[in-house]
Amino acid sequence: MARPSVVVIGGGLSALAAAWELSGGVEGPRENTPSIEIIESAEGLGGAVGTMEFAGRIVDTGADGFLARRPEAVNLITEIGAADQLIPIAHSGAWLFLNGHCVAIPEGTNLGVPTSLASVRGVRELSWRAQWAARRDYYWPRRLTVDTDASIGAIVRAKLGNELTDRVIEPMIGGIQAGRVDDLSASAVFPALFAAARTGGSLMKALAPLPAAVPSSAPLFCTLREGVGSLPTLLATRLLERGVRIRTSTPVTAIRPTPAGSHAYEVDTATTTTPANYVVLATPPQVTGALVAFLGESSDELRRLPSASAAMITLCVPRGSTRLPATGTGVLVPLKTPWRNGDSFLITALTFLDRKWPHLARDEDVLLRVHVGRIDDRRGLEMSDDELVARVREELAVIVGAWPHKGESVVVRWHDALPQYLVGHHDLVERARAASEARGIFLAGKTYDGVGIPASIGSGRRAGREILSRLAD
Ligand SMILES: Cc1cc2nc3c(=O)[nH]c(=O)nc-3n(C[C@H](O)[C@H](O)[C@H](O)COP(=O)(O)OP(=O)(O)OC[C@H]3O[C@@H](n4cnc5c(N)ncnc54)[C@H](O)[C@@H]3O)c2cc1C
Repeated sequence: MARPSVVVIGGGLSALAAAWELSGGVEGPRENTPSIEIIESAEGLGGAVGTMEFAGRIVDTGADGFLARRPEAVNLITEIGAADQLIPIAHSGAWLFLNGHCVAIPEGTNLGVPTSLASVRGVRELSWRAQWAARRDYYWPRRLTVDTDASIGAIVRAKLGNELTDRVIEPMIGGIQAGRVDDLSASAVFPALFAAARTGGSLMKALAPLPAAVPSSAPLFCTLREGVGSLPTLLATRLLERGVRIRTSTPVTAIRPTPAGSHAYEVDTATTTTPANYVVLATPPQVTGALVAFLGESSDELRRLPSASAAMITLCVPRGSTRLPATGTGVLVPLKTPWRNGDSFLITALTFLDRKWPHLARDEDVLLRVHVGRIDDRRGLEMSDDELVARVREELAVIVGAWPHKGESVVVRWHDALPQYLVGHHDLVERARAASEARGIFLAGKTYDGVGIPASIGSGRRAGREILSRLAD
């Protein structure tokens, strides 16, 4: 009897993780392992991660690290035999650009939300109103009824006021998916905040970390020696050894339900048709929604889900030509920080790449990355590369005090790459999964279970596990 067939659409980390799970995970293929085909539209695998050569080293084009205290990414890397490639983050702490200078983000914040009065007092640039709002939440918390979901902004504005929200919390949380705290779902993006708000008491106290019985020595973030963007190649090598078929430069054009026969679907590209018993859809939501239009309303919801675009500008300059803060991994710039002529800063964050990742450091130069773009701010994305780099250099000179007009630079643009988890996101995902999984189509990736790399990998493996359990029935 022919082996059942699974087609995995997309070649990002979630798709590759789904194929890893389907091909037997750490234990490897078994007798009943399905035949697996990955179909990716781009020339190479990796989707939102990749690497480039820049300033004599290999640098990530997208994500440069991942949360290592969540298990999914580290486990997968270990399972494929690449644990020796893991590099822990070398610095901690970061800065906020407030009132024209860099101010240390105090210890004791949870994703930007202060958890002690000392952490707010430590930021002298905050007004007495912000200090008072924190005291009020600590001693006399405002009542707030939070039901099934609320925006992060609705919670933190009600509890801690606008200043702490706009100047401290938004730069941190909004930056994660280039969204706005007033739109993002608390339950989907920051579940701890959602749970804290539902206690009805002080947000700050409820978010304070519990004393750890044994302090964790595990690094908070990691990267890979050849960049996070090397993971797709490492994974693909192992998948090919297992007989997984991988096709690139091949957009899937349709998934057609077949009314009868041994396979539920036919997956079309411009030149081929692959029969499939099950399908993993690990594509961006706009593509996913269009490919499963036959699922009705929930496919429309996916197609309409907004996604933010971002640009990352990587720069290298002689070490003596700039004055970075002495410590920390980067600087966050609050939205609407005034620039010139009534305009505001384009930069939302700087990352000191060679300080975060010591293998990138050289005595003679500084490697820095600038982040630009939010869901409602496309100014930087509409500029040419030259205009964008010139503007970013001017802004950097103001943020860190000195930045040369020359030096190596490269702009990488990520269009519609960051799906927005709006209020009610969990329900949307539940509806989409209920409709698709009933028909043997499994949704995976950054749109569903969290935008970060560990969550995307976990999401892909979940899809793989679900299919294996159907096949075992
Ligand atoms: C600028 C940026 C910075 C980030 N920084 C970090 C970070 O520091 N840490 C972190 O943990 N996460 C970060 N992320 C998030 C992380 O990179 C992503 O969540 C993760 O890589 C998503 O993987 P995915 O497989 O879900 O989606 P994707 O990587 O988007 O993969 C989807 C794939 O589907 C393919 N596709 C589209 N249409 C079709 C079609 N018709 N047929 C076949 N294939 C198709 C696409 O080409 C793509 O390869 C960042 C993301 C961005 C955009």
